Amino acid sequence: MPNLFNHKRSELSALFVELGFERFRAEQIMRWVYHQNVLDFNQMENLPKTLRGVLQDQMCCDLPKIQQENVSRCGTVKWLFNMDGKNAVETVYIPEDKRGTLCISSQIGCALACQFCATGFSGFMRNLSTAEIITQVYVANMRLKAIHPDLKKPITNVVFMGMGEPLLNEDNVFNAIDILLDDLGYGLSKYRVTVSTSGIVPAIHRLSERSQAALALSIHAARNEVRDRIVPINKRYPLEKLMAACDAYTEATNRPITYEYVMLKGINDRPEDAKALGKLLAQRQAKVNLIPYNAIDALTLECSDEKTIEAFKQQLNRYGLITTVRKTRGDDINAACGQLYGQVFDRKKRIEDYHFIKKEHKV
Ligand code: SAH
Ligand code: SF4
Repeated sequence: MPNLFNHKRSELSALFVELGFERFRAEQIMRWVYHQNVLDFNQMENLPKTLRGVLQDQMCCDLPKIQQENVSRCGTVKWLFNMDGKNAVETVYIPEDKRGTLCISSQIGCALACQFCATGFSGFMRNLSTAEIITQVYVANMRLKAIHPDLKKPITNVVFMGMGEPLLNEDNVFNAIDILLDDLGYGLSKYRVTVSTSGIVPAIHRLSERSQAALALSIHAARNEVRDRIVPINKRYPLEKLMAACDAYTEATNRPITYEYVMLKGINDRPEDAKALGKLLAQRQAKVNLIPYNAIDALTLECSDEKTIEAFKQQLNRYGLITTVRKTRGDDINAACGQLYGQVFDRKKRIEDYHFIKKEHKV
């Protein structure tokens, strides 16, 4: 049965017109669902009985099952959401002084196999639907009201930095963003919803036309020989093409890009690496976010020392780049960046899809 959560406002309106009802019914239903948290069509009092009946026969409002919920010492919460009885993805909530960020997943696993990432290590199963993306926000929001009752609006920011590569699931990710920004959905500002990508160049070119979200780019190295090794998609979309796409995005939106850089000891943390990054970004509208590498059991990589990270930051500052170091949150519950494994089943399908993506994007 079609899930109501798969549809943004314009699609719901079209759907109701097709069924012989008024367009504005979509607005009423969105208010019930997203503002009142009512999912039982029968309780939606301002809808005509006939429409309630049609909805009950033809639509559902299915939510993912919470398979696990962990609350960290620092208030960070991690959920394992079961999406289809077999596969599960992770969603993380990070409370800070003036904001609460929900980090959501866009795919079950990821095919891009970055060398430092647990999700990449787990392989790829499938894309999440719009409903599977937006209901991570829905359920998290409901649970947070119980876990952090003091917070009036627990989720102020949403980032696509959980499992998966959002720009390899464009349609569903952009639909979900529309619902996040819609006043009748979550009403978030376009400055508070961020898509993070490892660099899918054609999709970056489309991003400014298709969505209003902010862009974060997982750059991790400013020279192709280093980036090729740690972010394999770089072989398909090398830095020259990537930076051209970033420039086109900035030109179209006049918005800065946040460049994420995971600090890996002896791999991308030397003074010459900082120099290359400084030179690459100095003339661009850029912010840099250095991410201390979070250890993944199966991998032998190490995080740069604190001193090295500080020196790297100072060097970037000299190029006039605003540089922050991301605080590691929730590592006691394995909820830190890159530590998300989820549960990825059906290895056969996963491998077929992996080859499909490799072929499509000639990775
Ligand atoms: N696929 C997208 C979004 C998900 S990954 C992307 O790659 O941007 C979100 C962020 O976590 C990325 O910047 C990624 O590089 C970073 N990350 C992955 N593994 C990590 C690890 N082990 N330690 C720290 N950051 C990591
Ligand atoms: Fe995929 Fe992002 Fe992990 Fe790379 S860092 S494997 S693109 S989820």
